[in-house]
Amino acid sequence: MFDSLSDRLGGVFERLRGRGALGEADVRTAMREVRIALLEADVALPVARDFVEKVTEQAVGQNVLRSVTPGQQVVKIVHDALVDMLGSDTAELEIAVTPPAVIMLVGLQGSGKTTTTAKLAKLLKKDGKKVMMASLDVNRPAAQEQLAVLGTQTEVATLPIVAGQTPVEIAKRAMSAAKLQGFDVLMLDTAGRLHVDQALMDEMKAVSDIANPAETLLVVDSLTGQDAVNVASNFSEQVPLTGVILTRMDGDARGGAALSMRAVTGKPIKFAGMGEKLDQIEPFHPKRVAGRILG
Ligand code: GDP
Repeated sequence: MFDSLSDRLGGVFERLRGRGALGEADVRTAMREVRIALLEADVALPVARDFVEKVTEQAVGQNVLRSVTPGQQVVKIVHDALVDMLGSDTAELEIAVTPPAVIMLVGLQGSGKTTTTAKLAKLLKKDGKKVMMASLDVNRPAAQEQLAVLGTQTEVATLPIVAGQTPVEIAKRAMSAAKLQGFDVLMLDTAGRLHVDQALMDEMKAVSDIANPAETLLVVDSLTGQDAVNVASNFSEQVPLTGVILTRMDGDARGGAALSMRAVTGKPIKFAGMGEKLDQIEPFHPKRVAGRILG
């Protein structure tokens, strides 16, 4: 991931570092190249513009250019700005509430919600948590069965399926089952949607009112780039998201969604899906990602 961005930035930095003295014009030329590299990586235009403005201001505004190693300092400013853009620290799941802590996953159909529900459940189970999963997806045939199969594979409990219930009814049943049976965490996999659609948004809000989730995580496909960012900003206007999970990062060569998500939604990326297998999920570490981009 980020290979091409990394190469492009590497070239810009090499030219900067290679010079003893730097003038404002050199910085501005370099930042124009950084801007193009970000846009080619599919970073949202306003995000790229803000990034370059901020870095330029810091680089020419202070005593950076008169320092002994101006190139190196400019590279450091870019690095710090990149970490800032990605979110300053690893965002943990906030589930220290009276159990069951509810984690609700929302997102478009096919974004990887059900798979991610099982991946997270598996991680939490490994952490010693007693986890239950429930699918509220009554729209897609076999969605509830798909989660039951994943439950068997991961040895995580799933709420027994009762045909004909509405998502709100399932959520109520899941809450009382999780309370009664002493589960620490209840994961709610909500109905997928093809696009941001009002009826489904209302349904999601109704579920959220009942379940009062500790975490409401938006699952988005990183391969969809700018669309992923638009979807995220739409969702975040409708539901109080606590974080984002980017799936298919394993296939995302450009990384634009990852780079723009934080700035556009104001929400941290908490995890990255790195493959179809149920252990292919990683906490999102902004510093590590920034380090990988800058080589
Ligand atoms: P949902 O409709 O949002 O519940 O999506 P699913 O969980 O059914 O996932 C749709 C497809 O994406 C499945 O084939 C998953 O195996 C695949 N998938 C999910 N997450 C990842 C990921 O991080 N990487 C890759 N390569 N595939 C993924």
